[in-house]
Amino acid sequence: MNHLWDQVLEKLKEKVPSHSYRVWIEPTKIISITDSVIEIGTPNNFYEDWFQENYLSYIKDLLKEITNRPYQLIFKAGAVPEPIDKMPQSSSEVGIPQASGAPASISIQSPPSRSQGADVLNPKYTFENFVVGTSNQFSHAAAYAAAEQPGGSYNPLFIFGGVGLGKTHLLNAIGNHIQRKYPNYRICYIASERFMNELINCMRYEKMDLFRKKYRDQCDVLLMDDVQFIAGKDRTQEEFFHTFNTLHGSRRQIVVTSDKFPKDITGLEERLRTRFEWGLIADIQPPEMETRIAILKNKAESDDIYLPDDVAIYLATNIKSNVRELEGSLIRIGAFASLTGMEVNIDLAKEVLKNIIQHKPASISLDDIQKNVASFYNVKIIDLKSKKKLKILSHPRQVAMYLCRKYTQKSFPEIGKFFGGKDHSTVMHAVKKITHMATEDPVFKKDLDSIERIVESQNY
Ligand code: ADP
Ligand code: MG
Repeated sequence: MNHLWDQVLEKLKEKVPSHSYRVWIEPTKIISITDSVIEIGTPNNFYEDWFQENYLSYIKDLLKEITNRPYQLIFKAGAVPEPIDKMPQSSSEVGIPQASGAPASISIQSPPSRSQGADVLNPKYTFENFVVGTSNQFSHAAAYAAAEQPGGSYNPLFIFGGVGLGKTHLLNAIGNHIQRKYPNYRICYIASERFMNELINCMRYEKMDLFRKKYRDQCDVLLMDDVQFIAGKDRTQEEFFHTFNTLHGSRRQIVVTSDKFPKDITGLEERLRTRFEWGLIADIQPPEMETRIAILKNKAESDDIYLPDDVAIYLATNIKSNVRELEGSLIRIGAFASLTGMEVNIDLAKEVLKNIIQHKPASISLDDIQKNVASFYNVKIIDLKSKKKLKILSHPRQVAMYLCRKYTQKSFPEIGKFFGGKDHSTVMHAVKKITHMATEDPVFKKDLDSIERIVESQNY
């Protein structure tokens, strides 16, 4: 209805898990919109709590980003009809914003009616169709070991990696493997957001005993996706902490995924962080070229899409850091070809991907590079900008300068200025030195490749 709001919704769709989107965002409507205020109609006043708790600041940032103006959001409860399914509508006695798709009855009391977004293992995500390369072999091996011997040496297993790199796939693969190998094991596979929603409902309806039974007594393997989401949610962390202790104490396997390293999850309780570090932490990096091509070929074969080598290489060269996007582009090309009867070739690929591929590199900023390099080498940004000559600082600084030159259009003097006012010759020297090192020192080259993948991946 409104172009600006449509843009916001598009972005939200990417960010918000789909069942939450359906439950919380879809029923709302824009009532009015001015240059500074947006009025949103909701079926009842729990929506406001939910927005406040979860996405309000994100939405405001988005609006600011799009329009360059601050916006105020006003919620008008009761302004739109209640959705047909039963939606949240009464206060949680415990003071936690209501945040679930349906009353407690759904998956706790009557397991068969798990349709409202209950998490079930996706049979398509298996180890067999997970393509292994250097970037993910460690996580893959760890996941496989945990699936072969649940509750064994890798407990808990913490898998972390960027968006679209296969965390959910691996988590499901573990579940599917265990289900096949140990048919008696009761597997709880759940997104952490849903865990929270269930918890809140159980608290509301005084069904905590059922909740605990489900996750502590009747669970042999706990697979929790996107655990970073529970950060800052005190009651959920508390409950998860006890769940964790019970399961771990009786040697039951726990696997969690996260888009961040435990230390980097802000708002994660210390005691949970330590527990995540008890076991094995495995990361997934963006896949390298060969893996990207292999993933494409696999997918093309399973979806019956004709994919010539040069098109595979074209896609893999242009989409580097997100497997979901890589697959998505292939599917789009396949659909385009079959709908129009055109042949799959580079021209078609270019046409179909026009919008995604363009302008990416230009959006990498000096800030981004400094931030990524600093975090890779575990140094402070301020030290990158300093004059300190210690090798542990000067080396990352030179790497950052090199990358600034590679990924941005900035001149040597401009880059120098950004590093605390250094001379252009310092930057030139850095670029030369790093270029040389990259050809001479394979260990360093590997680091450099990783940093480049991070820089590229964060700037799609
Ligand atoms: P994440 O949970 O890390 O955001 P997903 O597990 O949802 O990512 O992966 C996104 C898509 O990419 C899924 O369709 C998944 O099957 C696919 N995928 C990711 N990594 C691989 C891989 N190594 N081999 C095959 N498919 C992969
Ligand atoms: Mg995922």
